[in-house]
Amino acid sequence: MGKNKFETAAIRTQIERSQFLEHSAPIYLTSSFVFDDAEDMRASFAEEKDRNIYSRYSNPNSSEFIDKVCEMEGAEDGFAFASGMAAVFSTFAALLDSGDHVLSARSIFGSTHTLFTNFFPRWNIGHSYFNINRLEEVEKMITPRTKLIYAESPTNPGVDILDLEALGKIAKKNNLILVIDNCFASPYLQQPIAFGADLVIHSGTKLMDGQGRVLAGITVGSKELVEKIYRFARITGPALSPFNSWILSKSLETLAVRIDRHCENAMRLAEFLEDHEHVNWVRYPFLKSHPKYSLAKKQMKAGGCVVAFEVKGGLAGGQKFFDGIKLLSLSANLGDSRSIVTHPASTTHSKLTAEERAETGITDGMVRVSVGLEHIDDIIADIVQALG
Ligand SMILES: *Cc1c(COP(=O)(O)O)cnc(C)c1O
Repeated sequence: MGKNKFETAAIRTQIERSQFLEHSAPIYLTSSFVFDDAEDMRASFAEEKDRNIYSRYSNPNSSEFIDKVCEMEGAEDGFAFASGMAAVFSTFAALLDSGDHVLSARSIFGSTHTLFTNFFPRWNIGHSYFNINRLEEVEKMITPRTKLIYAESPTNPGVDILDLEALGKIAKKNNLILVIDNCFASPYLQQPIAFGADLVIHSGTKLMDGQGRVLAGITVGSKELVEKIYRFARITGPALSPFNSWILSKSLETLAVRIDRHCENAMRLAEFLEDHEHVNWVRYPFLKSHPKYSLAKKQMKAGGCVVAFEVKGGLAGGQKFFDGIKLLSLSANLGDSRSIVTHPASTTHSKLTAEERAETGITDGMVRVSVGLEHIDDIIADIVQALG
């Protein structure tokens, strides 16, 4: 964090005003920028000047968004991408060579898993998975080819918590790059760089936008690593558009107050469900019954927007609950102002084998709720009638 506190940085980190002295930043919908003369253009292309040339490289709106996230995460630099997956892919592609190996937590976003299993082999990049509850095994899994450790916390959809500081120490000791996908926590609840991460990735599509409007992604971290990512992205073209950058930068102004309410609502729902007769168990990081409660308290400011629980009656019970939902949305997104329910076993994680599902904490009757910003009484009422 810079000298401003989080909420202040989220609002007051802004690009230079134009000649019109606008209060709120304008949208710079321009593909390219102009030069004064031949020497200006030469020096700009030679990168002797720090200025905008072409919006595939940089744009004032994306710079403002990046500056804000760097302030929030305590990062030196960053690059903004058209989606979270563009950030994930470009980060790997920029840092890995053919023959390298990635050590990743098993509980990761589905598309990241598919990237490892279906595409990495084409480029001769290996991967292996560790269990976040057995970090003592991680060092034994490091090979001479291992270059990078990758993980998420809290995990999706199991809402398990990874010890970031312990993993940070393992990465440092073994000279490996630690990359954390911090999308579930948001920079407001958790800043992985403070625990030893070298790079932090976000899908801006989730809590950052928070209103289900745009896709976005960002990677922030050390200047040295971001420089490599920038060199790759500048040529391959996954940059976030100026318009979406503007949306994201404005969204961040309200991130803290939105997430406070998300967490308050999620906590209320989690506590309510713990006592419900048709619910077997509830998992939420800030519930005392969560196996990693004290770790969550240590590394997170609050529990986040996702609550997982198991409906009695297995697969059929889960699907019946799902069909009973009236107000909340049946959708795959999360971190939206609208509450969203998913049934991982029959949808997002149906392609996993029963064994793989068990490894990631997914059971047949498990439901994931991304708790939104509707009134908590209405959220609970809808879930109660669906449970009945
Ligand atoms: C959604 C998500 C992504 C991918 O982001 P997109 O913006 O959908 O491309 C990556 N990681 C996590 C943890 C996510 O939830």
